[in-house]
Amino acid sequence: MQNIYDLTLQELEQFCTPSYRAKQIYSWLYHHYIDDFDAMNNLSKDFRQTLKTTFQLQRPKIITTQHSKDGSKKYLFQTHDLHNFESVLLKMRESQNDETGKIIQEERWTLCVSSQIGCKVGCAFCLTAKSGFVRNLSAGEIVSQVVSVKKANQIPPQKRLNIVFMGMGEPLDNFDEVIKAIQILANKDGLSISPKRQTISTSGIAPKIKKLGELNLGVQLALSLHAVTDELRSKLIPMNKAYNIQEVISTLKKFPINSRKRLMFEYLMIAGVNDDIKSAQSLLKLLNGFKAKVNLILFNPYENSQFQRPSEKNVRSFQEFLMQKGLLCTIRESKGLDISAACGQLREQNL
Ligand code: SAH
Ligand code: SF4
Repeated sequence: MQNIYDLTLQELEQFCTPSYRAKQIYSWLYHHYIDDFDAMNNLSKDFRQTLKTTFQLQRPKIITTQHSKDGSKKYLFQTHDLHNFESVLLKMRESQNDETGKIIQEERWTLCVSSQIGCKVGCAFCLTAKSGFVRNLSAGEIVSQVVSVKKANQIPPQKRLNIVFMGMGEPLDNFDEVIKAIQILANKDGLSISPKRQTISTSGIAPKIKKLGELNLGVQLALSLHAVTDELRSKLIPMNKAYNIQEVISTLKKFPINSRKRLMFEYLMIAGVNDDIKSAQSLLKLLNGFKAKVNLILFNPYENSQFQRPSEKNVRSFQEFLMQKGLLCTIRESKGLDISAACGQLREQNL
């Protein structure tokens, strides 16, 4: 039986007569976070019965929740076929101006979702890669992460939420389901998370980046670059042997970006591997001509990891060098480090 969370509004409309019933269903699913068709009390008993015999209303279960000191939370989910994956709710602060122009700090939530159970890319520094690949998540399983986390935190439907596809998996390796999830998440009668508030992070599957660009969804893109030579990048990200730096860079040059936004380049800093000023100089050269933003990620260690976290001094010097040359460069805060919820610390856990 099909899971109702896998349906776009248009697909649901084809099933419903009159078609506005689909919007009512969407509202129950995405504004009221209901768990069962019987709760849809503005639909007739007969119609609810038809829905029950046609669809499943199924979200992966939250098995455990871990709370970080910084307010972030990590959720361990279990799918219907008993696999586990994780999502992380990150508490961010954003500065806003109020009506008088005064700067106020506002709390913002970003949800880091998984797109696959495990990952095929096999990056040398990533814990997710260590458990290999199990399967893709369906669009409904991706969308459900947002619904379940909103429900668990009683986040009201109208509260803004940003989505980053930076949990487990390579989103562009699960292209069709991820695209469908983006569209369902964006639907104005549902969760209404505009594509410009959704970011796909990719290890660089060039033909899929091209395909994503052609769809012109308005989604944000982040490339996990991490190295400026093919020799090093291929060691860190085996995908680089198939699509090298030049190929990825020239594909990105054609990627449509919102005029007020920048293309994001993630640069994972590893002590003694790529954290020197020479690398910063090459990075600057490589990104010449892009409206780019570099986000420095500090390697998050895990048990038996072969790499080390860079020193704060090296990270600051790297950032300052790029900023002085006019390239916007931020350092990613390691949210949830105390609960292993930071980037690259997510893996399937067998309970
Ligand atoms: N597969 C996608 C998205 C998920 S990984 C990608 O690779 O881009 C999200 C980010 O976490 C990537 O930039 C990845 O390089 C980074 N990451 C992986 N392992 C890490 C670790 N141990 N420490 C810090 N960042 C890590
Ligand atoms: Fe996969 Fe991303 Fe981890 Fe690489 S860093 S193994 S692409 S999840």
